[in-house]
Parts: sequence; structure tokens; C-alpha cells
Amino acid sequence: MITHDILIVGAGLAGMRAAVATPPDVDVALISKVHPVRSHSVAAQGGINAAIGEQDSWEAHAYDTAKGGLYLGDQDAIEAMCREAPQDILELERMGVIFSRTPEGRIAQRPFGGAGFPRTCYAADRTGHALLHAMYEQLLKRRCRVYEEWYVTALLVEEGQCCGVVAWDMVHGGLQVLRAKAVILATGGSGRVFSTSTNAVINTGDGMALAYHAGLPLEDMEFVQFHPTTLKDTGILITEGARGEGAYLLNTLGDRFMKRYAPEQMELATRSTVSLAIGREIQEGRGVDGCVLLDLRHLGRARILERLPQIRELAMEFAGLDPIETPIPIRPGAHYQMGGVKANAWGETDLPGLFAAGECACVSVHGANRLGGNSLLETIVFGRRAGTRATESIRHCDLVPVPETILHHEQNRLKILLSNPGPERAWQIRDDLGKTMSLHLGIFRTQQSMREALSAIHALTVRAQQMCVHDKGRIFNTDLIQALEVQCLVEIAHTIIVSALGREESRGAHYRGDFPTRNDEAWLRHTLSHRRPNGPLLTYVPVTMTRFPPA
Ligand SMILES: Cc1cc2nc3c(=O)[nH]c(=O)nc-3n(C[C@H](O)[C@H](O)[C@H](O)COP(=O)(O)OP(=O)(O)OC[C@H]3O[C@@H](n4cnc5c(N)ncnc54)[C@H](O)[C@@H]3O)c2cc1C
Repeated sequence: MITHDILIVGAGLAGMRAAVATPPDVDVALISKVHPVRSHSVAAQGGINAAIGEQDSWEAHAYDTAKGGLYLGDQDAIEAMCREAPQDILELERMGVIFSRTPEGRIAQRPFGGAGFPRTCYAADRTGHALLHAMYEQLLKRRCRVYEEWYVTALLVEEGQCCGVVAWDMVHGGLQVLRAKAVILATGGSGRVFSTSTNAVINTGDGMALAYHAGLPLEDMEFVQFHPTTLKDTGILITEGARGEGAYLLNTLGDRFMKRYAPEQMELATRSTVSLAIGREIQEGRGVDGCVLLDLRHLGRARILERLPQIRELAMEFAGLDPIETPIPIRPGAHYQMGGVKANAWGETDLPGLFAAGECACVSVHGANRLGGNSLLETIVFGRRAGTRATESIRHCDLVPVPETILHHEQNRLKILLSNPGPERAWQIRDDLGKTMSLHLGIFRTQQSMREALSAIHALTVRAQQMCVHDKGRIFNTDLIQALEVQCLVEIAHTIIVSALGREESRGAHYRGDFPTRNDEAWLRHTLSHRRPNGPLLTYVPVTMTRFPPA
């Protein structure tokens, strides 16, 4: 059996930041189903928030975050994130991140939605790329073992403690047990539950499903953020940085319609507000071929080339137009999971030995709606914190013995999957799931619609157990990996539907036509989904409030 002190599942920003936070005498290893720099963090465009401006303060950042999340975020965690953000940005700069600059040479900051101050630091519109590559250099310097292209299929739990994982070595084939005194989940989001999504195809919610299977609750799964501006057919993201630089949103009448929905903030209202507004315009017939238009023309060629080079390329490549001359048709698409594995501000979950950080976790800083630029920040702050706390936790604990038979269960599961007669393939289930979720759990939700999704998910769950894997081989069996991913997606979708049906109000990203208003009296609380044989069981816990009373 392979043994390390700390195992980190996921090598995106959160996972690598956790590894880099550990001291050199700790034996740390990372496991990732793709090469670290192919993690979805690399695709982040617009930037990362921190109150480093002279007129800005961490308290203002915390207030904007709590308010933007409709007061569903835990304020102890929000305070920690915003207070520590400036130090983390300076640390990133020392690590070699090439932030864009002001003419005076300071780190430049652009305005983002819901922020009272321009506090989003950026590297043109390729911020994730700059951060992830700098972090990878730090990882090489830290000399951790990386199990690249290994797929984790289960968490090991013995004596009430997480003591490792089971993983499939994709290159050579075969299951392996990896033991550790502590495990950190940093597996990213689950955007591929929806058919139109900004997320990479690898964002299949595996880590959330792993924790859920190990008996841990998933928190606030009903809150899925729809990014207002994604390309029509592909769901490719056009960064909020475009509106941060001054782009307009226009309907078919050429009208800047945001003046009717958020007259003060206009295009820079929070994402849930802008997505709902775009949805309304399209629904009421003022759209353009199922979209509205994002107009950058008045920014001028030079500014677009300097600040938004990547989205220009994306628009030319995937929408066939040059935004210097033509507005881009866009519509909202699934973007970010505010919910996830319940964890506190140090990444500790309800299971001793298991930590979670980054998008797979719900430390609950985003509440009902995440502000742009706060997610990259979350990966850095809480990745670092989880690495630090995991290190403290292993100092005085021994490895839990793992029985020899531990692999049998997983081996059996894979054997059954590989021998299923089918005839359905994983992609068919993934397609149907995505369409169901986009249709019934998009930006507008109703009880009737979500009930339809619920009955569809029961059928999809059965189909996902029966699907067949054509490739029976061991080496790079991507057919098998996709089947395992689809099983995670179906389970995660189930928690989203049941949690959304449970919450009878509208708040942030969760908008219900049948309960159109926010109801603090009844619903200022977190939803927890627990895994039961017939589907998720819901319980609720209070929100932690410190200094910002709901308004
Ligand atoms: C297109 C796009 C643009 C964005 N732009 C911004 C932005 O400008 N600002 C901002 O704040 N946020 C942005 N976000 C959100 C932000 O980028 C993500 O929330 C964040 O990067 C997630 O980082 P992470 O480390 O949690 O996970 P990821 O970077 O997604 O990494 C997940 C890791 O887990 C591994 N993994 C997953 N499952 C398994 C498994 N079963 N076995 C082994 N390994 C596994 C993967 O291989 C990967 O290494 C954007 C998101 C997208 C999709």
C-alpha cells in the first residue's frame, strides 16, 4: 500500500495551495485525474478580489460579500477570507504571479459586480492561467509527489476517521489503496450537471460525491450560479471583466435594459440579478435569437486588445465575430456551485481526518450568490488554511490500520460496471441529465418543473447503474472514467433538485416563480443533504452571523 502523511485529492489552485502551505518535513502527495495545470482553475479569466486599494478596506469587502450572498454566507468565514486576502495577494505576487499593473506600477484592480470598490486584481483576462502556473512552480519547488492521471473512486473510513483513498491508475490500469493521516478534498465544481455550462468537461462533482458516499452532508446544493454572459452554443465564458471594463448589455431594441432592473449598478449588479434580467428580456421577446448582446465596441480597439485579448479570441473562434466591430450574443449558463462538502473556515469537515477546500467545499462564504473574483480568492485562502490545519492535525496521530480486504468493495463495483450489458453508454445519460437540469433547474424554477426533474432523476439513477462500458481494457480506459463521472453527476444532480424543492423562497441564484420573495423568517438557514437509500434527506442548520445583520 502507498502511504503518505497528507493526501490531497485535486491539483487545481486549492489543492496546490494546500500542498505549498505544508512544511517540508511533512510527506504530502497530490492526486489528480488530469495534469495539474489542466485543472479548471486555469480557465479563470476575470480576476481575484482583495481590498488592497488605499481607499478600500477588508470590512467593506466582507460587507459586499455578505450582502451579495443575500446573507446566507457564514460571516466568520467571510471575515477570515476578506481579512487575509491582501496578504495572500502579496504572497502570490512574491511567488511570481504576473498581475496587470497601473501606470504607477501597482497591482491593477478592475470593478466587478456587487463590489462597492474596484478590488479585482487580474492578469489581463487570463488570471487563472497566471495563478495556476505560478502555483505549479511552487509545487515543484516543494517537491511533492504528484499522482497524475489517477482517478479517486472512494474515501477510506475506518474507526470513524478518514484514512486514505482508493484510486484507479489511469495510465497503467488497476485500483490502488493510498493511506494517509489526513485527506484534503480539492476536487473543484460540478458544472457539468447542466448541459450549458462554462465548466471544463472534468468538472463532474467527484469529490462532493465521494464525501456524500462516506456519509457527509452536502450543504446548500440548490445554489448554482448562472453566469450572465456565456456564448450561445458552447457555454464558453465571456468574463465579467468585460462589463468591469465598461461593456453594455443590449436587447433587440438596442436598449441598455439593466436600467430597469438595477438602475444604479446597471451591468455591474450581482450575477443573479443580471442573469434574471437577461432571462426576463429573452422570455418577454426582447432577445436576439435566444440571447442578448454584449457590446464592447465603445471601449475601442486598444483597450480590448490590452485588457480582454482572450475573450476577443474566443468570440472570433467560437461565435465567428470580432467584438471590436460587432456585439457578442450571450446568454446565462451554469457556472459555479455555491454548495458543496460542509466545512468550517479551517477546511475541517464533519469526518475527522477529512478536509475540504476550493469549489468542492461549502465553507459558506458565497451564501446564495458568489461575487465574481471571490472564488479564486477562496481557493487561495482556504487551500492555505486547510493545508495548515491538516499539518497540525497529523502531528500527534498515527496511521489507522486498514484491513487487507479494503479493495474488495471497489473492485466489485468496477467489475459489475464493466460487465453491464447496457446497451446505453455514459454519454447518453450525461446528455439527458444535462438537458433535464438546464430545463427544470435553470435560472427560473417552479415546483412543478422541479418535480418533473425529480421523476427524471429516478430513471436516470437506474440507467446510470445499468450503462455499459465498451472498453474493457486497463490502459487509458476513458470510457470507464466517464461512466464513473456520470454516476457522480447523477447523484449530485439529485441533491440539487431535492434541496431546491425544499427551499420555498427566492434568494440569490435560487429563484422560484411560485415563491418569488426572500423569506428570512423561515429560510435564513443552510440546507444539508444526507445520503439515504431512496435519495437525499434534508436537514437545516443556522447561518453564522457576526457583524452584518440581514437587510
Ligand atoms: C471559465 C471559468 C472562468 C472563471 N473565472 C473566474 C474568475 O475570473 N474569478 C474567480 O474568482 N473565479 C472564476 N471561476 C471560478 C474558479 O475558477 C473556480 O471555482 C476555481 O478555480 C476552482 O478551483 P479548485 O482548485 O477548487 O478546483 P479545480 O481547479 O477545478 O481543480 C480540481 C482538481 O480536482 C481533480 N479531480 C477532480 N475529481 C477527481 C477525482 N475523482 N480523482 C482525482 N482528481 C480529481 C482535477 O483533476 C483537478 O486537478 C471561473 C470558472 C470558470 C469555469
